[in-house]
Amino acid sequence: MIRYPITRAKLDAEITAKSATWFADTAAVVASLPATPASSDFKPLWSKVKEVYIELQHSKCCFCEKPLEGNIEQDVEHFRPKAEVRSWKKIPAELVAEGVVVNQPADGSAEDGYTQLPYHPFNYAMSCKTCNSTFKGNLFPIEGTRDSANSDSAAMDGEKPLLIYPLGSIDADPESLIEFDALSPVPKKATGYGRRRALVTISLFRLDDAKKRKSLFKARATLVRLLYAELEGVANASTAAKKAKHQKVVDLLVSPETPFSNCLRSFARLYGSDPVRAEAIADECIKFMKTKSG
Ligand SMILES: [Zn+2]
Repeated sequence: MIRYPITRAKLDAEITAKSATWFADTAAVVASLPATPASSDFKPLWSKVKEVYIELQHSKCCFCEKPLEGNIEQDVEHFRPKAEVRSWKKIPAELVAEGVVVNQPADGSAEDGYTQLPYHPFNYAMSCKTCNSTFKGNLFPIEGTRDSANSDSAAMDGEKPLLIYPLGSIDADPESLIEFDALSPVPKKATGYGRRRALVTISLFRLDDAKKRKSLFKARATLVRLLYAELEGVANASTAAKKAKHQKVVDLLVSPETPFSNCLRSFARLYGSDPVRAEAIADECIKFMKTKSG
């Protein structure tokens, strides 16, 4: 995961440029909701502004950073679920061992959804179907107190969410919490809430599961191997012109536009601090490049 910087004012302006009446239309839907709205009560007006988010995120999934083609492969993910919040029933034992405690009903019942946020610009992010539909669904695990009546997702820190929101700067920068060790994401912090958020985000989306997310590992490996070759090109270039050519590709590979930026940036840092290990990882990448994506 990486952050996609944008201010609320700029985001609102881009939404309005796409659909001049969007804010008025969405406010009217929220004002006429029944007391206990069902999913179908929320008109899918977010599809009108989907392209704003696709562009902002360079058409990458906000959670796994895989590239997404066109409009069809991607979902408008409601970070805080709109109709109901499902209980997270199978919290992995390794998270519990790390001190992750989710504040949710003990009987496993669902909680009220965030009915004031279905059209909040900072409650959306584009996500691949695997991350959104297969793994997240209506989950929204928190450590703090559920604040589902709030209408401003920028003022809900008291919930202490265990997932990370990557648009704008209303949440921590994902790269301050998650980095990569070779092809696997790992928490950056040794202890505390920031570590638990990283662990939950990685675990819930199976971002470190080389079996369930084979295609992620294969794609990360391919790009890391390419980055390694370009970094070596910079280090060993015989002329300034050749060095500059390789550096251009390195800069492109670690830019936010390229899929798996967090992984690639972590590898570039490792190459600077431990080139021997970087070489071993680059060799290991070849194995993943040969796997069937599945
Ligand atoms: Zn994804």
